[in-house]
Amino acid sequence: MTAKEVVAFAKENNCQMVDYKFLDFVGIWQHFSTPITEFSEDIFDEGIGFDGSSIRGWQPIHNSDMLIMPDPATAKVDPFPEIPTLSLICNIVDPLTREGYSRDPRYIAQKAEAYLKSSGIGDTAYFGPEPEFFIFDDVRYSLEQNQSFYSVDSVEGIWNTGREEFPNLGYKPRNKEGYFPVAPTDSMIDLRNEMVQVLQEVGLNIEAVHHEVATGGQAEIDMRFDSLLNMGDNLQWFKYVIKNVAIRNGKTVTFMPKPIFNDNGSGMHCHQSIWKDGKNLFAGDGYGGLSKTALYYIGGIIKHAKALCAFTNPSTISYKRLVPGFEAPINLAYSNRNRSASLRIPSTNNEKAKRVEYRTPDPSCNGYLAFAAQLMAGLDGIENKIDPGQPLDKDIYGLSPEELKDVPQVATSLDEALTALKEDNAWLLKGDVFTQDVIDMWIEYKTENEIAPVRNRPTPTEFALY
Ligand code: GLU
Ligand code: MG
Ligand code: MG
Repeated sequence: MTAKEVVAFAKENNCQMVDYKFLDFVGIWQHFSTPITEFSEDIFDEGIGFDGSSIRGWQPIHNSDMLIMPDPATAKVDPFPEIPTLSLICNIVDPLTREGYSRDPRYIAQKAEAYLKSSGIGDTAYFGPEPEFFIFDDVRYSLEQNQSFYSVDSVEGIWNTGREEFPNLGYKPRNKEGYFPVAPTDSMIDLRNEMVQVLQEVGLNIEAVHHEVATGGQAEIDMRFDSLLNMGDNLQWFKYVIKNVAIRNGKTVTFMPKPIFNDNGSGMHCHQSIWKDGKNLFAGDGYGGLSKTALYYIGGIIKHAKALCAFTNPSTISYKRLVPGFEAPINLAYSNRNRSASLRIPSTNNEKAKRVEYRTPDPSCNGYLAFAAQLMAGLDGIENKIDPGQPLDKDIYGLSPEELKDVPQVATSLDEALTALKEDNAWLLKGDVFTQDVIDMWIEYKTENEIAPVRNRPTPTEFALY
């Protein structure tokens, strides 16, 4: 849509409010609204000022004026407010220079797309993420229903035995048994279907829906692939819709990667390919039907995987998912069809569908940053012809430590990922896609606000042990 078309679109839909959304540094959508009376075509040129100092990891207070620039191509009707509301995703710019703000994740995604074009390698990078998530009872709702939240004998017992979360004690799959018996074991069908309908209403193409392996209503809803920036936008709509449909049904959704001990966590496998002039550059006659370009791309991901984890697995709890035994890949190997490798080449004879699936990322990531970082790692592989080594076609979970000794592994903690990022980041800085201030602030923010408070607190497991 152009600016003019958005104005007409708002009128047609009788929008009374306009909601401006942007993704913060950490990965949570932020928003503010104005009445429609304040809205005109000019907003798209002029932008709207706001105070950037209260946004985590952004401007210091003495330099806090910032401008949001709504992107007309992102106009939709927000399905949740009662009053019809036009929704626009925004870029962040400096009010004086009008240059994009270096720590705006959407700007980083745009620069990654521009870098791909300028490299001459391709013109479009496609991403198809598969976010998994848990559906739990909403405590507020449960209290209303007069259920006793603390009705179990001991909280410590739950942590030690890996028993399910509470107070959801109804009929549901046991740990690791959710994939995927029909109803009544699967009691989330109607809720997932409602999520799918609203996702479609906001223009997302949904391809498949199912219960996942874990208990607690773990689910997966898959979107059709899209170009990098669009997929960054789509992922935000995805999380927003899923969470809000859950809440209005007395449930709550979390994208945290490992909410339940002793059960599968939530990953966000990312299918990806690079195209040029309408041709898929990943299709070829090498291993798994891949081109040399695709194999080098894999080489880049493997080489930078530990540092890449800082963006694809950016939470302290990301690393509680990345342990053996729960289908979360920790070994940096690639394989045709093999789901125990961190890089899988899905089997297909269709050239257009040839792609690489990187299985390490999780849905706690900031989509724009995670997609951009994966693309930059892969491009570095292509530019430097990085050999990915030999494929590993065995069930990696069954290999002995001896057999695994030459297989590199992903980071084992957020700390390790950030340390790797500190040392290995030249590939991100190319074309000013990620800038040094972004990398420094990412490390500083995560260290002070996430690693330190988790490290400083005794946990129930430590109580049990000591
Ligand atoms: N939940 C698994 C993970 O943590 C993935 C399961 C699957 O293969 O879809 O990555
Ligand atoms: Mg899955
Ligand atoms: Mg997958």
